[in-house]
Amino acid sequence: MFFEIIGFFVFLFGAAIGSFLNVLVYRSMRGQDWVNERSVCEKCKKKIPWYENIPIFSYLFLRGRCSGCQTKIDKIHPLVETMTGILFLWWYFAGYIFFKISSAPLLYVQPIFWLFISIIFIVIFLVDLKYYVIPNWTISFLTFGTLVYRFLLLFSGEMRWIDFGWSLVWTVCFFGFFFGLKLIASWLAKKEAFGDGDVLLAIPLGLILGSWQRILVALFFSFVIGAIVGVILIISNKKTIKSNLPFGPFLIISTLISLVWGYKILAEYVKIVLR
Ligand SMILES: [Zn+2]
Repeated sequence: MFFEIIGFFVFLFGAAIGSFLNVLVYRSMRGQDWVNERSVCEKCKKKIPWYENIPIFSYLFLRGRCSGCQTKIDKIHPLVETMTGILFLWWYFAGYIFFKISSAPLLYVQPIFWLFISIIFIVIFLVDLKYYVIPNWTISFLTFGTLVYRFLLLFSGEMRWIDFGWSLVWTVCFFGFFFGLKLIASWLAKKEAFGDGDVLLAIPLGLILGSWQRILVALFFSFVIGAIVGVILIISNKKTIKSNLPFGPFLIISTLISLVWGYKILAEYVKIVLR
């Protein structure tokens, strides 16, 4: 019973963080001051009272509609809240065990860093999927957070400077690849082929992946997954060959795959090729 109660509050805490992220996304996309303004309904400008602003529950209670004008509330709000809640729940019961830097000062830094990365990943994944845009602040947060984390590892001797140097080189290559691809694809298709956000996202993802092996595996999977999803959407008549697809979600998923299994996948691949 004790663990269920704790779990419930951990989930609520995560959902509250998700709710705050929704506000960040919403306001950064409309260029509003995200600290001082209070939430209002977009349609009827009704001020949203606190009890209609409780993560997930308010959405369910209001049946997904504004209480003033009955306009549908964007599903992305409860989605971000639920996913952040589940992430916190997972992290609390299982996730933090995954990270095992044992030296004392970094004992908590590593799990917190990966929790932070996961939260931003959720935002990028859902926002790009829904609005075809990757907010700049998510890219800045990721880049800055990862650099701080790397420096902590470097100065505590958990990471070698030479490895960090190489990770910078490969990050530049990763970014350069998407930048070049964007130029070529835009020139061939005579329209914007990759969003600026997709190209910029390569910088923090390269830093997070941190090695050419992982970057290569992530790159490979982003295109494989993108191609599979693209074909499925075309077959099911949801898109045509000329439609744009948000690429951020594919990059996020393939980065996660590579972070967990990158070295293993590359080793298996090399084994098959050399046989
Ligand atoms: Zn309204």
